[in-house]
Amino acid sequence: MSEQTLPTTARAWHLDSRPEGRPTASNFSLREVALPTPDAGQLLIANEYLSVDPYMRGRMSDKKSYIEPYDVDAPMDGPAVGRVLVSNAQGFAPGDYVVHVLGWRDYAILDAATAQKVDPNLAPLTAYLGVLGVPGLTAYIGLERFAKIKEGDTVFVSGAAGAVGTQAGQIAKLKGAGLVIGSAGSDEKVKLLIEEYDYDVAFNYKNGPVAEQLAMAAPEGIDVFFDNVGGEHLEAAIGALKLHARIVVCEVVSQYNDEKVVGPRNLWNLSVTRSDILAFMVSEELDLQPDFVREVGGWLAEGRLRYRETVREGLENTLDAFLAMMRGENIGKMIVKL
Ligand code: NAP
Repeated sequence: MSEQTLPTTARAWHLDSRPEGRPTASNFSLREVALPTPDAGQLLIANEYLSVDPYMRGRMSDKKSYIEPYDVDAPMDGPAVGRVLVSNAQGFAPGDYVVHVLGWRDYAILDAATAQKVDPNLAPLTAYLGVLGVPGLTAYIGLERFAKIKEGDTVFVSGAAGAVGTQAGQIAKLKGAGLVIGSAGSDEKVKLLIEEYDYDVAFNYKNGPVAEQLAMAAPEGIDVFFDNVGGEHLEAAIGALKLHARIVVCEVVSQYNDEKVVGPRNLWNLSVTRSDILAFMVSEELDLQPDFVREVGGWLAEGRLRYRETVREGLENTLDAFLAMMRGENIGKMIVKL
């Protein structure tokens, strides 16, 4: 792109009002904003892929959280992969690809220190938002550091057909788990869990009480619960723990819209089984990234790890992609291609 054709405006999704319950299109708008020229140390980026993630729902509210809320009337942000158009920073050149956090827009100006160069020849660019990005790392860290997964463990994963869940089941298996059970919200997803993602048993949590379906899947109980969902799933898993089991709370997507918050009523079973329940945040565990790249990158290169993406096209469809992901219309990572 020549100097003359460099963009002077960007289009960015803004939060217009904080959603009550499930977000709707009326809470957001796509607006044109001026694009300043990049200062020293900055990059001008043309985004090519955007990530939409469940945690963004939390940022639309102003409840106390582990991350700042989005400001009302301001552009939203999130993970993205883009191409450098202009570099005023050492170590970056036009044509380089970077992962950064100014998503939800087509063009971005950012400090180079907040961007990470990625190699499109090593993996498809979308992989850096999914299997080799935060979701893959989350699955790896949760199992390795917090579940302390062991050979022969019976592992239950909720939200199993999503970006984190499809990786968690496979990583558990690759780490020697004996029986891996997954739950997801459609019969199509359940079929894929078994056929593509190495789950031994899977069930549709919408087809009956989770506790009953889990008891059928793991009559002897579970050693590890990797929970993406919370609520009824968490209570069911607590009720199914073996001795010295580990529950890893990845997050509680079922409660993001505050629809019907169900808390576990059986915490006493943690004492009965002397089990641990731990929560973690991927951003605090980045020291495991080199191990993740080595192990997961290796499995990918050897064709031992599969992943899938659900891709929506066009910046104007970013909000729809986010809302669809929250309704469960994705398999694997939900991505927007610009
Ligand atoms: P995802 O699973 O790809 O997408 C979200 C999924 O949530 C949907 O596909 C849907 O699948 C499920 N869902 C929505 N409402 C639900 C409900 N009421 N009950 C049960 N399932 C529901 O998202 P992801 O990026 O992989 O994230 C998965 C979880 O990991 C989220 O809770 C996220 O916040 C968390 N996470 C945590 C960290 C961390 O550092 N701790 C980092 C990244 C992600 P169904 O069709 O199966 O309902």
